[in-house]
Order: sequence, then structure tokens, then C-alpha cells
Amino acid sequence: MNEIPDDHPRAESLRIRHKIIHGMERNVVAKAGLIAHGRGEAFDYLLGEETTPPARKAIKAAAAALLLSEYPVISVNGNSAALTPKEIVELSEVSGAKIEVNIFYRRPERLEAIKKVLEEAGAKEVLGVGETADGEIPEISSVRRDVDRRGILIADTVLVPVEGGDRTQALRKIGKTVIAIDLNPLSRTAQLANITIVDNHIRCMPLLVEEVKRLKGLPKKELKKILEDYDNKKILGDVIKLIRDRLTEIAKKGMNIP
Ligand code: ATP
Repeated sequence: MNEIPDDHPRAESLRIRHKIIHGMERNVVAKAGLIAHGRGEAFDYLLGEETTPPARKAIKAAAAALLLSEYPVISVNGNSAALTPKEIVELSEVSGAKIEVNIFYRRPERLEAIKKVLEEAGAKEVLGVGETADGEIPEISSVRRDVDRRGILIADTVLVPVEGGDRTQALRKIGKTVIAIDLNPLSRTAQLANITIVDNHIRCMPLLVEEVKRLKGLPKKELKKILEDYDNKKILGDVIKLIRDRLTEIAKKGMNIP
């Protein structure tokens, strides 16, 4: 990672890419994860590669939802584990959410590799790997229907970063509150989740940890008010308008390249 000079105009984006590539070399990220990352990057470009005001509102609502949940679970796949292992553990600690590995290409060595990355980052308990991972969500057709009976199966709220729409849909169908982190505001996941944070997972996770810490002392009544005032459809609309306005500006003036 050191070979990327700080003054490279796309240094940050390249560093993130290296984390994903390193993750693939460690068996954590699947090949398809590379493609998913590329799709995310394209949307990040459209967003201006920064956390937008609507994303900040969604982060606040997500933090309130996690704190109000009886049994929140963070669903971890290869990409999220490769990008933010430390923040996943921190979020679990501050919010009380369980950590569960749930991946599409479910090979035992990949499950173990992801678990290891999380444990190296300080996780004491990682669900979804081993003998309790035999719960089933019948609404999902792939092997990802396998979930942990101490985790997603009994969760009321599931945080799903960098996810495909089939799972989000199935989780909604069985009554879970779904919080998604997805750079593409048009994806099925983004459209179907209860709370959608349209932001890069790597930027969003530290902000989400801080927001949970900030809201933690608030009375339940105030946390509930945050959720009552939150409208995911409006937030998604605001993100799409923000992209539109940014593109209109660029179409007129060109990109501001130093
Ligand atoms: P859907 O089924 O929801 O319509 P999809 O088929 O694009 O979406 P996948 O390719 O399985 O879903 O999932 C990848 C999703 O994660 C994409 O929407 C992509 O934009 C998003 N994504 C990729 N990298 C990141 C990242 N670093 N942060 C946030 N979102 C990301």
C-alpha cells in the first residue's frame, strides 16, 4: 500500500482498491466482490466521493435504530470485512450488535478467513461460522439462506453493508428492519431497505460508530422521534437529486481538476 504516492490525484480510491485486492489474496473477498467494488466506485464518483448531507441523516437514523433494537446484527461479507474490520468490531461494541459472517460464495475456508480478519481486529464472537450457522431463511434460494440461529435468524434489525438485493428483500419479507450501506441509490438493496446510507462503506462506518456513541445517552423517546421523522424514500430522492444537480453543474462548467 505504500507504493501509492500521497499526491496521486486518486490516492484514496487506490488505497481502498488495494484493501479489496489484499482481501482477495487472503481469501476474504470473492472475485465477484471485485466487480461489486467497481460498481460502487462508479457511484462514488457521481457522488463526489464524500459523505453527503442525506447520507448523514441516514447515519443518524441508523444509529438510533441500532440503539432501539432488541437484537441487532451486523451481517459481514468479504468486501465489508476487507474494508473496515476494526470499525465492524467497534460498532458491535458500542451498539451491542452481534457480528455474523454471511456470504454468497460460502466456502468453509472463506468463512474462516473472514472470521480470522474480524478476530484479528478484536472480535470476541463471530457468528455464521460453524455448527450454529444452520438456521434457514426459506425466502432465500441460494446457500445464503443459511444463517446463524444465534444471529440473523432471531435478529430484529440487520445491518447489511455492500449487499445484493435478493437478501435485503428476503430479510424484509421475514420482518427484519434492514439498514443498508450502498453507494448505488438505484440498487434493489437501496430501494428496499428501511434505512439506506448511500455512502462508501469505508467512509460511513467510522461515522456510524461515532453517531452511536453520540446518541447512546439519549432517552428512548428521543431515539424514537429520530426514527419517526426519518423518511427513507425522501432521503433516496435527495441523493438522486444531488447527483443530478452535480452532473448538471459539471455539464455546464466541466470538472474542477486542479
Ligand atoms: P441489487 O441486487 O441490490 O440491485 P447489485 O446487483 O449491484 O444490487 P451486488 O453487486 O451484489 O448488488 O452488491 C454490490 C452493491 O454494493 C452495489 O450496489 C455497489 O454499488 C455497492 N458497493 C460496492 N462497493 C461499495 C462500498 N465500498 N461501499 C458501499 N457500497 C458499495
